[in-house]
Amino acid sequence: MFESLSQRIRAAVDKLRGRGRITEADLKATLREIRMSLLEADVNFEVAKNFVNKVQEKTLGQAVLESLTPAEQILSVVYEELVEMLGGEAKQPLLKNEGNLWFMVGLQGSGKTTTSGKLAHFYKSKGRRPLLVAADTQRPAAREQLRILGEKIGVPVLEVADGERPETTRARLQQHLTFDYRDLVIVDTAGRLQIDQALMDELAQLKQVMGPSETLLVVDSMTGQEALNVSKAFDERIGVTGLILTKLDGDARGGAALSARYVTGKPIYFAGVSEKVEGLEPFYPDRLAQRILG
Ligand code: GDP
Repeated sequence: MFESLSQRIRAAVDKLRGRGRITEADLKATLREIRMSLLEADVNFEVAKNFVNKVQEKTLGQAVLESLTPAEQILSVVYEELVEMLGGEAKQPLLKNEGNLWFMVGLQGSGKTTTSGKLAHFYKSKGRRPLLVAADTQRPAAREQLRILGEKIGVPVLEVADGERPETTRARLQQHLTFDYRDLVIVDTAGRLQIDQALMDELAQLKQVMGPSETLLVVDSMTGQEALNVSKAFDERIGVTGLILTKLDGDARGGAALSARYVTGKPIYFAGVSEKVEGLEPFYPDRLAQRILG
């Protein structure tokens, strides 16, 4: 999905290749082009600025400019900074031997329910015993969607009732776990089309009562800068421990997703790469950076 970004960054750096000597002005022109291509890919303004400043700091030294292969050296600094921007080391959500309770939060349409199923499938294939909880107390259709997904992947689904109180959900979950041992409970919480106070209050209350060990925010990477505002709002109100970016297979400008880690300060754990239940990959900053730089 980052093809045009990738082409543009390489084209900018390629202009420096084969030159005898690179001046500070050449370097600055290249960095300007890189900045423009980041912005055009919808990377957040601050992030792009900061990124280019860092590359500049590390390359302006005469050693780089006067080296035999300045373009390669600049490219390698761009790579390092891209990895850094995407979060550095790959991170995984905390997974204890048992008692894992993960909340899935996000806007309706972000891919929350699909991702809940994908995660259950992913960890089941690693020998875990997941349980899905369909916790949307207002939309029976959302619960049904998860039930169908659960049947498909062979993972049980506990459904809340319309208007069910958080205490009741907690009690029903505990009861379920006494007769059906599960070591990873994934709660698909209610989504709304926009952030609204009622949704946030309801979520905050459910979270307080259930005490999840991880709160994973599902972010649609096609929604551009708006995705970042959503992420900030969820984090401020609910408290988020990590991000899952969905629809990274789409061909829209995905730069907002590239800024998600930087803007929210939360690690990106997984990326959704198709509609299929297998379409979830652990997020590796270095691999994505390599892909972008070809
Ligand atoms: P929810 O309202 O947040 O629960 O969203 P859904 O799970 O119902 O997903 C909304 C739409 O996005 C569905 O059509 C999904 O198939 C699709 N979707 C979710 N994740 C991905 C993904 O990673 N890639 C693609 N291409 N589609 C996705």
